[in-house]
Amino acid sequence: MKPKILLLFAGGTIGMVPNPETGALQPAQSALEVLNNIPELSEIVDIDFELVVNVDSSNMVPDHWIKLAHLIAKKYKDYDGFVVAQGTDTMAYSASALSYALGNLGKPVVFTGSLIPLLEIGSDARNNLVYACMTAGLNIAEVCIVLSNQILRGNRAKKHHESFVAAFHSPNFPELGELGRPIVLNDWCRKRHDGELDAKVDFDKRIVVIKLFPGFNPDILENLLSLDIRAIVIEGFGPGNVPFLETSIIPGIIKAREKNIVVLIANQMERGKTHLEAYEAGLKAKEAGAISAHDMTTEAAVTKLMWALPQASTIEEIDIIMSNNIAGELI
Ligand code: ASP
Repeated sequence: MKPKILLLFAGGTIGMVPNPETGALQPAQSALEVLNNIPELSEIVDIDFELVVNVDSSNMVPDHWIKLAHLIAKKYKDYDGFVVAQGTDTMAYSASALSYALGNLGKPVVFTGSLIPLLEIGSDARNNLVYACMTAGLNIAEVCIVLSNQILRGNRAKKHHESFVAAFHSPNFPELGELGRPIVLNDWCRKRHDGELDAKVDFDKRIVVIKLFPGFNPDILENLLSLDIRAIVIEGFGPGNVPFLETSIIPGIIKAREKNIVVLIANQMERGKTHLEAYEAGLKAKEAGAISAHDMTTEAAVTKLMWALPQASTIEEIDIIMSNNIAGELI
């Protein structure tokens, strides 16, 4: 029997066509029409299609993740697996968000997209969609990203290349599998199970992300504290270090804590782990009340924080959630 798959379409290049006047890619009028160009999909899976939204993924917002998660939760028992087609630009955010929202996931939720529109010569869309659907029928219970020849854990993935078709990598966690003939799944993949899905589908968008650079004006941090925000993610230097001399941001972190605004320190390293005890410049931030993103990517940390905020009221509670391994996003 062919696996029963629900394909949720959320836009991206995979469903784009060039604007006749400007040549810039924009969403096609009918995504379904685009997908009808891959008739071989129905040879490998029994597929249903649902249009969620058709936008460039830079226009995706948490409400789209919520819609996707609700749809999957609602139809969870009716399908063997789910494929989400969306733009690659924010795919790591969507996949991370869904990995937290879909607790106790026992089936695959496979994100895919393409860098070249389906109807263009040399497109990677056909290959990616076919492999995503095949993966959605396998014994894997992960929110993953399938693109080119890789299966990556979604909340470990980062888009690192714009034009090369293997657009994602997973700097802090090995790939879940390789798409070949046959598809190989590695031992560390979470396996299917029949347990109940435990969906917690709520995200708080009141977050700011700051990337530090030498000379960052600390007044900017303090000015942010008067806005309606609940958390600030700071990408520090090295393992999460921050300035504490002339351009110190420590007073800003202390004031944030007094206002019950979470300060989460992530890092700017390609293969980074935030370790606030390693240097005085991190320890001072920790002592001022900042919490750590550990080895999460910024994408995984930002979405996890958005997901954690509705579930907790104190910084200590948020720290516990952020430090817990919810869906394989940290060690
Ligand atoms: N700009 C596109 C998007 O993220 C790129 C892609 O689809 O890969 O929607």
